[in-house]
Amino acid sequence: MEINFTLTFQGAAGSTTGSRHLLQVDDKLILLDCGLYQGRREETTRQNKQFRFNPAALHSVLLSHAHIDHSGNLPNLVKQGFGGTIHTTTATRDLCQVMLLDSAHIQEHDAEWLNRRNRKRGRGEIIEPLYTMDDANEAMGHFQSVGYHHPFHVLQDVKVTFYDAGHILGSSSVIIDLRRGEEVFRLAYTGDLGRANLPLLRDPEIPHNVDWLVLESTYGSRIHDPIGEAKEELRETITRVAARGGKIIVPSFSVERTQEVIYYLNELTNEGRLPPIPVFVDSPLAINVTEIFRLHADCFDRETRRLLLEDGDPFGFSRLSYVRDVEESKRLNSLVGPCMIISASGMCEAGRIRHHLANSIEDPKNCIMFVGYQAENTLGRKIVERQPEVNIFGEPYRLRAEVVTLNTMSGHADQNDLAAYARVVRDNSPRLKKVFLVHGEEESRTALAARLRADLGLKAVIPQLGERHLLDGKDQRDPS
Ligand SMILES: [Zn+2]
Repeated sequence: MEINFTLTFQGAAGSTTGSRHLLQVDDKLILLDCGLYQGRREETTRQNKQFRFNPAALHSVLLSHAHIDHSGNLPNLVKQGFGGTIHTTTATRDLCQVMLLDSAHIQEHDAEWLNRRNRKRGRGEIIEPLYTMDDANEAMGHFQSVGYHHPFHVLQDVKVTFYDAGHILGSSSVIIDLRRGEEVFRLAYTGDLGRANLPLLRDPEIPHNVDWLVLESTYGSRIHDPIGEAKEELRETITRVAARGGKIIVPSFSVERTQEVIYYLNELTNEGRLPPIPVFVDSPLAINVTEIFRLHADCFDRETRRLLLEDGDPFGFSRLSYVRDVEESKRLNSLVGPCMIISASGMCEAGRIRHHLANSIEDPKNCIMFVGYQAENTLGRKIVERQPEVNIFGEPYRLRAEVVTLNTMSGHADQNDLAAYARVVRDNSPRLKKVFLVHGEEESRTALAARLRADLGLKAVIPQLGERHLLDGKDQRDPS
């Protein structure tokens, strides 16, 4: 029987943003994720505006999780004619409801800012936002949610099941069973993978009987510090900076990292091991997202569910304030004395965090604490690399504050985790043919591919942007 499945890599091939992979089954097109590119403005604008396929020709979208680099271009997809269904888990849909609207707000705001600047410079050019709040609301109308382990058919011969990816609330690996006559082939797209023993979340589930694996590789070349050290490092940093009267500024992803930091702070407070400094979560998005976390206790691991019974609120303690109001946020700038401010965005590219950085970055008493991955060309990456001077709002600032990176807080599997995952897939998949490495910078993908080939004898493929691969049912596994 003729097999005609192809997979085309339309984004996050050689980078970690803009995840979009196109699965073709006969004449039907199914998109895996529809993320935004993040990084240099000119480059990302072009990549986000234009799809390398016709959105109107897509049958459906399978969405792995709510992070903007996986979901953030959905409103634009709908705006450009996509009329099908976006399938995802219930928690991911709820998160997208707030995150896509927030993203639209940023798009509108950025366009306004650029238009004002153009007017000042006497240029007549009008820049349209990538999408608006209306477009985001329109996109939400296309969502259909389903629980983990509830298989559903997107096409008669295409059955999909979401497995828990253990990366953020609602995150899934997308397991796709493709029927051809009597035979069934399995394509597994990991989405982003978490790590065993992350707070709040269950460990990633590993699929069996896989023919083709699309594996993320964010940390394909690195090994994280053990997870148990995160809470101690957090305590140690806060104690040290508070003792010298400094502020701790935490650029944090509104989803998951912020809630994990709060979860640890709550535990440390219950244990009486935190210096008595005020803690602020200054991000309306993070506050909305925390509310969604409270609604989805079904997604938590056993330990968090137990804590919920004892503590009642793992996301609240007496010295913690949630700041929604802009004026209140501005007042944080004039605070004297040690405090901790957790704000978004996580890579410092947008949002209130930039004000806090501008206000704190030049004082060596202060500390900027990173708890998540910083992509190339972002302000966060420049600070992590300790560039002596960085631009914020177009102005140069001297980087004199201490910079701390808590790699232990990473929500991504590291090289060991990824190799262990691939080993379990291999041992339980007699027909495994190829592993496609996506969502990693070149160095990460190359290192992981080498390890998968050498240690596991796997055929690891590093697809480039726009590359189309035939998923050949007759392909045998052979090391390359
Ligand atoms: Zn993610």
